[in-house]
Amino acid sequence: MLSEFDLIAEYFNRPRPVRATLGIGDDCALLTPGAGMQTAISSDMLVEGRHFFAGADPRRLGHKSLAVNLSDLAAMGARPVGFTLALALPSAERAWLAEFSAGLFALADAHGCELIGGDTTKGPLNICITIFGELAPGEALRRDAAQPGDDIWISGTLGDARLALAACLREPGAGEELARGEDFAAAAARLHAPTPRVALGRLLAERRIAHAAIDISDGLVGDIGHILKLSRVGATLDVDALPAGPVLSRYAQEWRRAYTAAGGDDYELCFTAPATQREAVLAAGVQSGTAVTRVGRIEAEPGLRLVDAQGAPLALALQGFDHFGSA
Ligand code: ADP
Ligand code: MG
Repeated sequence: MLSEFDLIAEYFNRPRPVRATLGIGDDCALLTPGAGMQTAISSDMLVEGRHFFAGADPRRLGHKSLAVNLSDLAAMGARPVGFTLALALPSAERAWLAEFSAGLFALADAHGCELIGGDTTKGPLNICITIFGELAPGEALRRDAAQPGDDIWISGTLGDARLALAACLREPGAGEELARGEDFAAAAARLHAPTPRVALGRLLAERRIAHAAIDISDGLVGDIGHILKLSRVGATLDVDALPAGPVLSRYAQEWRRAYTAAGGDDYELCFTAPATQREAVLAAGVQSGTAVTRVGRIEAEPGLRLVDAQGAPLALALQGFDHFGSA
């Protein structure tokens, strides 16, 4: 039987921290911030049955648990430094732990982000990561910083994750169609193993290209609403300009519109930047290997206006995801 301490030693404690002054093993970890730097901190919890299906692939779960946290650092423009892992497990299964930690550390190592501590307890499967990043004062891409006249940009593509979820839930329409088709695995990879846009976020912040940013976890229309509210501005969004994922691109317009505008689980960045920065945004996209698409404009008039390719108003029955909403 694996004890709590064996479990930590075997699967989570790795030799000698590089970024942390003191890593796993004491009452606290110690981080020494770079001179004059600010610390960006964020937590995200993944609960079985709420954020992932029971029996989910543990390697992908390890990846996704950290990916959603890295995505928050990306949306702030911060450089990843370290993270803590609070884990509730129904039982200590070696095969599960080996796969989970492999998925977690593969992504952590790719971003130079170190596991510096955590907590382990028995209980319903629940994974909570708190992540720490670093940036210089004034660099942060805050939600309250959008300005009228800014362009609105989206990284990567949207909607494939929502399409995969629709297939998992056998939702009528596109979901049922995907469940029967050959593209399910490609769309499901977007749902279960999102790519956090850390390099792009960092360039947008470091070069002072973008004003505001948010990562899209609950659907673009809902998430951009947070920027509009905190920045006290409005926006017009060209729904037909939204970059649909490669799988969703092959589906009918009604699904493309619905799932790009209000999908969820995309973990792409939505950011605003002055029109004078268009070349700089495109260069940051090329340098970070991330597609960037201009999809609208910030305006002084409050409210979000959705339009089609011709600029005609679109009335879509869309809602972002709200864990405590009525949906
Ligand atoms: P405490 O009793 O003070 O909470 P623990 O005995 O729970 O400490 O943890 C011992 C050490 O192992 C601490 O440094 C803690 O940060 C680390 N730790 C516990 N669980 C995890 C985990 N899941 N991942 C990484 N480190 C962990
Ligand atoms: Mg403890």
